[in-house]
Amino acid sequence: MKKAPRNSGARVGVISLGCAKNLVDSEHLIASLFRAGLQLTANPDEADLLLVNTCAFIRDAREEAIDAVLDACRRKEKGPCRGVIVTGCLPQRYRHQLARAMPEADAFLGLDALDRVGDVALRLLRGEGPIRDIPGEAVRLFEPPASRVVLSGGPFAYVKIAEGCDHRCGFCAIPGIRGRHRSRPQDKIVAEAEELLGRGIRELNLISQDSTFYGRDRKDGADLCTLLEALGRIGGRFWIRILYGYPNGITNRLLDTMGAIPQVCRYLDVPVQHSHPDVLRLMRRGGTTRDVACLPERVRARLPGVVLRTTCLVGHPGESEAAFRHLKRYVEASSFDHLGVFAFSPEEGTPSAGLKARPRSATAERRREELLDVQQTVLDAPALAWTGAPDEFLLEKAAIGPDGTGVGRTRRQAPDVDGHTLVTGLGRRAKPGMWSGIRYTARQGIDWLATAE
Ligand code: SF4
Repeated sequence: MKKAPRNSGARVGVISLGCAKNLVDSEHLIASLFRAGLQLTANPDEADLLLVNTCAFIRDAREEAIDAVLDACRRKEKGPCRGVIVTGCLPQRYRHQLARAMPEADAFLGLDALDRVGDVALRLLRGEGPIRDIPGEAVRLFEPPASRVVLSGGPFAYVKIAEGCDHRCGFCAIPGIRGRHRSRPQDKIVAEAEELLGRGIRELNLISQDSTFYGRDRKDGADLCTLLEALGRIGGRFWIRILYGYPNGITNRLLDTMGAIPQVCRYLDVPVQHSHPDVLRLMRRGGTTRDVACLPERVRARLPGVVLRTTCLVGHPGESEAAFRHLKRYVEASSFDHLGVFAFSPEEGTPSAGLKARPRSATAERRREELLDVQQTVLDAPALAWTGAPDEFLLEKAAIGPDGTGVGRTRRQAPDVDGHTLVTGLGRRAKPGMWSGIRYTARQGIDWLATAE
């Protein structure tokens, strides 16, 4: 029997998997642990408890989550760890099976139980368990706690403006996991932004499953445009970036609002998934066909200089070679600045999983690589056009070397997905959060090289 540490001051190792939305949940979990008097440790081998905040929306994410939980359980066998807590999408999605399938873990918490993790941790430290706290369909909406730790690891933060999703894309398990769309009150988001900016954050990345849906469930007139305006009224030098839009949510009013507020980055992340009408219909995104077709041209005409990121899904049931060629031509013609490509993963309980005419996995993977190759040729032309151009730069890590070489990003690059900009000549005193004018000199893959001005 392992010796029980005193509850206060016991150390918890937190492993956060998945997307930025899950990272924000991890920030909530950590706040709950702090409220219970617990501490964090970055070293899992010295943790009294290990917490794995999981992702489970596709097979790869599930496998990564299960591996992380089993690894934590193995550490429990060997080290001081007294319990393993599993939170997030995996227990929420498999709430009826997981406790039986993974008896090595000690506690499973659903999404609506995030704020109870501190109590659960204390119970495990007292020797109680196993614990299962998964209330069923996710319906709650959490406000960020005052003691929130920002896990993003730079002068930027993710701000979750809504939870859940009201779309029913045929391939997607997320609505079944995260529940219906629910938007946070606008004034609470503004208060959170003020608090983050007050402690040195320079970039607010607005996230949810569909950020352009923000406010549609509210009766107070708030929507993404009013939210941007309210955030802009805070004033001062910072960036606002909108991530995860839906094609039919990119209205002209939204584009005009973005263009009118200096803090808002001319950057849009809009997953189109596909371009072929038949595939979009099978994906249950048929209502976006026209929006997808004209999106790049319309957005660039209305918001000059906008940077476009999108995501495509290849290998969906019904995607013939002709439909895939349609997508290739679309990607080539659209000149997206950033592109992510996923291969279809049949998710149980989703309509797409039951469809016939699914391309083989090897075909889907080949199409994924082909589409990325197309994108690479697309990217070479703008690289030449941008060489020598000026831009605004935000330093993320302290500069090194005698002339101050530092890594950061520009408005053209979202955190974690769009690469970095490496800038020389920033000076030895350059610190994270510093702004600088730069001039691009070259591109390396998705990264840029530049000199400070
Ligand atoms: S909009 Fe996104 S989260 Fe919502 S169902 Fe479609 S793919 Fe899933």
